[in-house]
Formats: sequence, C-alpha cells, structure tokens
Amino acid sequence: MGVIEKYRDRLPVTASTPALTLGEGNTPLIRSERLSAKLGVELYFKFEGANPTGSFKDRGMVVAVAKAVEEGAQGIVCASTGNTAASCAAYAARAGIPAVVLHPAGAIAAAKQAQARAVGARVLEVRGSFDDALRSCQELAGRSSFALVNSVNPYRIEGQKTAAFEVIEQLGRVPDVLALPYGGGGNTVAYAKGFAEAGASLRIVSSQAAERAVTLASAIRIAEPAHLDEVAELVGEGRVEVVTVSDDEITDAWLEVASLEGVFCEPSSAAGVAALAHVELGPGSTVVCVLTGHGLKDTGAIEALTPATTVVEPTLDAILAEVANA
Ligand SMILES: *Cc1c(COP(=O)(O)O)cnc(C)c1O
Repeated sequence: MGVIEKYRDRLPVTASTPALTLGEGNTPLIRSERLSAKLGVELYFKFEGANPTGSFKDRGMVVAVAKAVEEGAQGIVCASTGNTAASCAAYAARAGIPAVVLHPAGAIAAAKQAQARAVGARVLEVRGSFDDALRSCQELAGRSSFALVNSVNPYRIEGQKTAAFEVIEQLGRVPDVLALPYGGGGNTVAYAKGFAEAGASLRIVSSQAAERAVTLASAIRIAEPAHLDEVAELVGEGRVEVVTVSDDEITDAWLEVASLEGVFCEPSSAAGVAALAHVELGPGSTVVCVLTGHGLKDTGAIEALTPATTVVEPTLDAILAEVANA
C-alpha cells in the first residue's frame, strides 16, 4: 500500500485524486548495533533508500504528481540535483504524463540521470547551478500548464510528512531526536509538520554541509535553500536545530554506517549521522537518523572514498595471500 492509500485521511487528497503508487513508503527502521554502543544511545536508521526510486523524494512526488493530474496539468517539471528528477520521471511515466527535468550540467550522479532517462523524461542540463535550474523551472511552470514538483510544491511536503508518522508507528513511541540532512530544507519542514500533526514533540537536528555550493554530498549541494525562511522559523520556535558539518565528517559518517552496520546510503544521507557528534545526546536516548537515499545512487563516491579492488591469479595461494593482507 502506497502513502496516498495508507495516509489518505491525513493528506489533501479527494475521491478524484488518482490512486497513484509505485509502492512508496513503509521503509525499514533499522536498529544500529555498533554506532548505538559507540554513542551511548538507542540509534535507528530510517532507510529511505528503500523507496521505489531509491530516495525519500518518492513520498512527496507521488502526492504532487497525483494532484497535478487531478488538477489537469499537461506535464510536470522540476529542477534537481538528481533524486527529485529520478522520482519525478518515474511517477510521470506511471501517471502517463510527460516530465521535463533540469540539472546543473555535469554535477549530478550518473545513476540518477540514468533513472530519469530510462523512464523517458526529457532531461536538460543547464549551464549553471541548481539554483539557476530552479529559477528556470519556476518560470516555465508560470507560463505553461506544466506543474512544478520541486519541494516548493506544498503537496511534496504533505507526502513527505508521512515518514514522521511511520517512525512513530515503527518505534511504537516518539524518538527523542531525529537527525537528517538539510539541502533545500523541504524534508526538515516535512518532518516538523508530520510530528506536529501527530502531536509529538522532539528535537529535530537538520545537518547542512559547511560548503553548501561545493560539497561532495551532491544531493545537498544547494547554495540557496528554498525553505530557508521556514527552517529559520522552526529554529526560532525551538523545534529544529541546524548543525553544520564538514565534508570529512560526512564521509566518515557514511563509511561508518556502511562498514559498521552494513547499511549502504549515499554520502549526503549520512549528514544527519555526522551531526550527532555536534549535539548533546542524553545517555540512552532514542535517536533516529534519516538515511535519505540509496548508496547505489552515487557509486562514483565509492571510487573516491574506499580502497581499490585487487586483481589476483585464480589460485588458492594467491587468494590466501591477499586475504591474509586484508
Ligand atoms: C533531496 C535530498 C536531500 C535534501 O533534502 P531537502 O528536502 O532538500 O533538504 C538529502 N539527501 C538526499 C539523498 C536527497 O535526495
């Protein structure tokens, strides 16, 4: 059951909203074994990489595309660092409408672009940044009957808030802390909204890259966050804490999640884990880190961040010699 069907009573959907789904949501909440012990907390990962296109974007996209169809849009358009495009393209294909996606040229992971192309989206590479691409999309949507499905589309936030409901359902209680990456801030706003609607109060730690415009974490490489004002308001109300982490901290956290826990997310997704070193955590408190996207999204990062493979002769001696070296 997808998020529209499961959370129908808590979403702005009607009897005439198409029952669009690719089976998004209901992602695993995985208890961390080793990092829990290291940090002295009960740590869990909400693994959003298990969504149909491999990122949390699917939760909001399914609602945004269904509403676009309901409202008679001819197609959909988005600017993307990769995952929004992959998701937008898939749900457009599913709904039978065209998708146009704009990327910063040469700045997105190859697998994400492959996803958009595979399902037939029109992929345009903009000579400029993500922020330039978003401005162009807003103009296009303003002048055509293409609906903009970036997270400035409120239906995206509505769909994404369902992750907060799931965390509470899966844990059987409200966590003390939820940590996640902060790119444009849409997901931060969505979790804050979801927990508030569930009557839950907790600390939300939103983790941004120190060098936003050039971070290796390409999914959060956004210089001008679209939700800056809303995030600032949540900070002012004491509902969100923004933490800034370096690329080295993101990389270390990513490697730890992968090698200590066996959970493979993309580097950006580990920003929330990296932020935990910067905040006071009460001993034994329950902490949920949202791992926003799947590791297979950005295999280029593996080349840069892990040791190379070794070529050996197919003999037992050669193999044993290498294994002993490991
Ligand atoms: C989109 C995305 C983010 C950033 O989310 P925002 O809502 O823009 O803050 C983080 N990680 C991954 C994998 C993403 O796809």
